[in-house]
Amino acid sequence: MSKRQLAMVMDLNKCIGCQTCTVACKTQWTNRNGRDYMYWNNVETYPGHGYPKNWQESGGGFDAAGDLQPGKIPNIESDYGVPWEYNYDEMADGKILTPHQEPTWGPNWDEDVGAGNFPNDNYFFYIPRICNHCTNPGCLSACPRDAIFKREQDGVVLVDLDRCQGYRYCIAGCPYKKIYFNPKLSKSEKCILCFPRVERGLPPACSQQCVGRIRFVGFLDDKESQVHKLVNEYKVAIGLRPDYGTTPNIYYVPPVFSPNKFDENGAPIVESSRIPDAELEKLFGKEAYHQAKKTILAEHKKRKETGESELMDLLIAFQHQDMFRLDTNYYHDVAKAEGKKALAPVDNRYSKGKFTKFTTHYKVGH
Ligand code: SF4
Ligand code: SF4
Repeated sequence: MSKRQLAMVMDLNKCIGCQTCTVACKTQWTNRNGRDYMYWNNVETYPGHGYPKNWQESGGGFDAAGDLQPGKIPNIESDYGVPWEYNYDEMADGKILTPHQEPTWGPNWDEDVGAGNFPNDNYFFYIPRICNHCTNPGCLSACPRDAIFKREQDGVVLVDLDRCQGYRYCIAGCPYKKIYFNPKLSKSEKCILCFPRVERGLPPACSQQCVGRIRFVGFLDDKESQVHKLVNEYKVAIGLRPDYGTTPNIYYVPPVFSPNKFDENGAPIVESSRIPDAELEKLFGKEAYHQAKKTILAEHKKRKETGESELMDLLIAFQHQDMFRLDTNYYHDVAKAEGKKALAPVDNRYSKGKFTKFTTHYKVGH
């Protein structure tokens, strides 16, 4: 168990699928050194096959008895998609822009492909996904080398690259398929929740850049943080696929404000939703989803009638900086107690590893 848990809440009612978060993460961490095909942050259209393809059916996680389940290791070509280049130089000779190789699959391949029939049952929505920094990580349990660890200070799940031998049991063990094999280094790599930024009081790059202001970041035990309020007080932010048994620490406000259905006269049916409850029950668990939905709709109604609702104010996020409550002093004190230089990464096995260079263009407070 970690002493504290850093967590993120994503409000799916506000995600516009712009992929700014994806690009922020990719340019920060994965556009080089064998990580090119990886998307530590991706945004997929639901319903859809997702990334990697059909990850929800690829096994891993734990059964009700707590036993680790067998899982599949996705194939780079057929399940992730090999990154392709374009013939930019040839365009000067009048050729049209084409990929250098025939693409067969890739992240976001089925973007905006919904389900159901127009005009009443068609729907889709976006789900941004990163590693869930689970309390009970399938990747960690599956690793025979003890190369995956959960930081005591904040619950961030990391790979010790010096110990990892690239066996890939972790990839099979993660039911979200959010840990990847780096073929150049023969190591497994994953989202690090931008811990070098977080320790300096900066939110992860995906959250800082989020255009829709859907991402809240903070410690679950910090009663002043919006993450705490949304997860523990209002209980409107819930984990994805709780049935996988890993207890994720990335939470979602389910999409309860979808477009209305229409009656026979073409008028919108108030409070109807095109997204089937059954799909959201599958993603978030029946009880937790319905409790969240009830609270959100009740607070929405209250806000309309009285003009007041703390929950609606939180979700609107008038000030972007209010969405993040990080604690630089906490990391500073932990480092000091351990006799380390203030603000040095609490655990430097990853940041000082041979394979990861950390750079920041931001200053604290900006
Ligand atoms: S989402 Fe997967 S990779 Fe991330 S901590 Fe959970 S089991 Fe491990
Ligand atoms: S940047 Fe924000 S709004 Fe845009 S796709 Fe990512 S999570 Fe959604």
